[in-house]
Amino acid sequence: MIASMPRSQTPAVLLATAILFLLTPAAAQRPGAGPSLTPQELARAWDAEHVSSPVSALVDHAEVVRRLNDLEPDLFTVEQIGQSVEGRSIHHVRAGTGPMPVLLWSQMHGDEPTATSALFDIFEYLHRHRDSPIVRGILDRLTLHVVPMLNPDGAERFQRRNAQSIDINRDALRLQTPEGQVLKALRDRLKPEVGFNLHNQNWRTSVGDPPRPASMSLLSVAFDEKRSDSPGRRLTRKLGAVIRDAIEPFASGQIGRYTDEFEVRAFGDNITLWGTPVLLIETGPWPSVEQDPPLVRLNFVAIVTALDALATGSVDRADPRRYESLPLNESRMFYVLVRNATVINGAGVSPYTADIGLTASRRVRTTDGRREVHIATTVDDMGDLRANAGLLRTIDASGLFAVPDTGYEEGALVDLPEWRTRGESTLAVGQPGRIALLRSAEGGRYRVEVVLRER
Ligand SMILES: [Zn+2]
Repeated sequence: MIASMPRSQTPAVLLATAILFLLTPAAAQRPGAGPSLTPQELARAWDAEHVSSPVSALVDHAEVVRRLNDLEPDLFTVEQIGQSVEGRSIHHVRAGTGPMPVLLWSQMHGDEPTATSALFDIFEYLHRHRDSPIVRGILDRLTLHVVPMLNPDGAERFQRRNAQSIDINRDALRLQTPEGQVLKALRDRLKPEVGFNLHNQNWRTSVGDPPRPASMSLLSVAFDEKRSDSPGRRLTRKLGAVIRDAIEPFASGQIGRYTDEFEVRAFGDNITLWGTPVLLIETGPWPSVEQDPPLVRLNFVAIVTALDALATGSVDRADPRRYESLPLNESRMFYVLVRNATVINGAGVSPYTADIGLTASRRVRTTDGRREVHIATTVDDMGDLRANAGLLRTIDASGLFAVPDTGYEEGALVDLPEWRTRGESTLAVGQPGRIALLRSAEGGRYRVEVVLRER
């Protein structure tokens, strides 16, 4: 059990605690625990040693099985704990011999792969540094139980749901999905003292004002409608504080928090109710074309730091207000935001001024047995979007015309489309994000400044 500090302490108790710490400094750390690494040192270790693919979305079930087969058998025990609807194996990796069981599961939603990659980097780290104080401490004090890919059928299709088209994370009570049954059975067998529920969140997720991308959002999961407090919830709030402090140097202003409304059907909420307090970690957008490497790195630092804090007991001294003061998630981020364009929308409407917000999502195509990722963009909103921000690009289109892209080339000289003419494509919400921005040029013609198109 984790020793949790009661919320209200009398000065006498505080004084007694202080004296205890002065007299026995060793009591501050649990036996066998060595000095911890800084987040920067962990990030440097990831930079030098990570084994994850640069594109997490391309990691399929076959690659997970291959990587599990390559794990060092004297450090890791790999067990098949069940199979998916379509018969793909679901695995449980055990590492460490400590008295505190810790459960981590990833990719319950098939199209949320970032933490799965981070888990394999953590396995690599445990293996390479097995004799270092930090890894020794983790393996001596904790027993890690990891399910790297709970929804392999969803991962194969790169979709949220399983092959029954059920959201496994709303199946904790009805238990109609074999994947959900497997997770519950594992939880009930191990009775872990804490659980980490690892997901990705929508790229629209933002924090703050002006909005910044919510690159990681945390939730100390509730177990009842009243969102009651408990030692377990205090522990997950403290873990949230530990993670915030660890990743803030790398993602300042990009860390968010979910409201803790109880979701009666969700696994995190029920696993907390069943006795294993859960911290939800949602990986969000990163402001670059390449999403995965910085976000896998962030997960690596967050999770290793959290495990170290559990192993050394330093989590007991974390200030839960560092978690509670995180800004709440909002959805004010667009992938690309075009501001102040004069829109000729191709539907016979006279030109008007509007901002245009494009959202993006990753899709995976399999061509000749090879998986390929592409980014699908959609016009999500038009109008006055001054409260929003662009993740990848914010384009000031003052003085430019925004028209539906019908195959424009950047730099070309073209005629401005006649607004009264109805074209085949229109610039409207729900349409693919194909837009050209035209600037008035010599001889009454227009230069194509920017073409936004799916890649
Ligand atoms: Zn999810």
